[in-house]
Amino acid sequence: MPIKNSKQKKKKKDNIEKEPKEKKEPAFQTVRGMHDILPKDEDRWKAIWNIGEKMSELYDFSLIETPILESAALFEAGIGVGTDIVEKEMFSFKTKGDEVVVLRPEGTAPVMRSYIQHHLGRFSSPLKVYYVGQMFRYEKPQAGRYRAFHQWGFETIGEGDPFYDAQTILLAVNFLKELGIKNVTLKINTVGCRVCRPNYRKKLLAYYKGEKKHLCADCLRRYEKNPMRLLDCKEEECKKMREDAPIILDHLCQSCNGHMKEVLELVEENGLEYEPDPYLVRGLDYYNRTVFELIAKDSAGFALAGGGRYDYLGELVGGRMIPAVGVSLGMERLVEYMEEKKIFVKAKKKPGVFFVIIGDPAKKVGFRLIHKLRESNMRVLEAVGKKSLKAQLKAANRAGTELALMLGQKECFEETVIIRDMRTGVQETVLAEKIIEETKKRLR
Ligand SMILES: [Zn+2]
Ligand SMILES: [Zn+2]
Repeated sequence: MPIKNSKQKKKKKDNIEKEPKEKKEPAFQTVRGMHDILPKDEDRWKAIWNIGEKMSELYDFSLIETPILESAALFEAGIGVGTDIVEKEMFSFKTKGDEVVVLRPEGTAPVMRSYIQHHLGRFSSPLKVYYVGQMFRYEKPQAGRYRAFHQWGFETIGEGDPFYDAQTILLAVNFLKELGIKNVTLKINTVGCRVCRPNYRKKLLAYYKGEKKHLCADCLRRYEKNPMRLLDCKEEECKKMREDAPIILDHLCQSCNGHMKEVLELVEENGLEYEPDPYLVRGLDYYNRTVFELIAKDSAGFALAGGGRYDYLGELVGGRMIPAVGVSLGMERLVEYMEEKKIFVKAKKKPGVFFVIIGDPAKKVGFRLIHKLRESNMRVLEAVGKKSLKAQLKAANRAGTELALMLGQKECFEETVIIRDMRTGVQETVLAEKIIEETKKRLR
């Protein structure tokens, strides 16, 4: 019987599996700043997916998916020409049809484009949608920052009520909680509106005017184009400069003030602690009023999630003023944080069976039986490339399956299959035609 015979063979490894000894860099690698998601991280990615979907359902958000490629003009209009993203970080190129397109640097402007293009406002008010996908920014690659990264985003479009600002924040906090990330700080600020911002901007420019020599090159540019971003510079000198700068909270119009107050009340109502951060302005021009970030207390300070209100974006990208608020979660950051903090998640998989095939004649029958098992909704693993029984059982052990189904020449001839309990090693022979019931009966 081939099943026993193969045990005697002592061949350790197939020659084909051996790699050349010298370590040479492979000829092709990911493009700089890009990365692969590998099977070892599957559980974490899946946890994010599953929780994202669960949250979307609980909060009644529907899926929206926009193309990765959009016209460059969409982001120039929406995010703003003076921002780092549009000035320095877009992957843009010309198509054969001479269109200037970009790999999307963020998800909100495309969603708004879609909202206007398809008149989505007609169907519900507000429209609540979620998206998940890759974004691209040509940034300096560094820890926690990739040039291609995934975001999970939630957008509520068509409502200006502070209720939705608070709900968006709560949703993101709960998302993190579900992932096992509980230790987060909510940083929150307001960036005002068209009524109060120009006045504040003037105050800010006046403050920085005599101090330009202390500013970094980036900030000098910001001074001209986008003075509020002077506040979120990471350079030490610039940080020192901002300490005495006027803050927007002192210059809000009545309506922005009321909005902020209500958001904070709702947030408090739910027992969420927050930290007002007058320097939080976020990198994009389209925000107004509420802006926020969620930062893990025991991390290097990277935001795991961030968002805000963007009532003017609709108008900027060619529609009208459409009140809206949203948040996005950086999925790579979540995965890395969970890994770093050993937050253990295990994707729930069906208990599986391992199908062992010994010898070529058994392959055909085995192929059919495996298919049958899968058709009746069973997870089946196999390693047909490994010839010996021992090697295949070892693979079954490593995979942690409860059962191994074994088929050799003798079993094929007798139309049976051996079922082995991987924990006890007890083996039973069953009829091949009863394989589904017999297997199900033995699976916990
Ligand atoms: Zn205002
Ligand atoms: Zn600076």
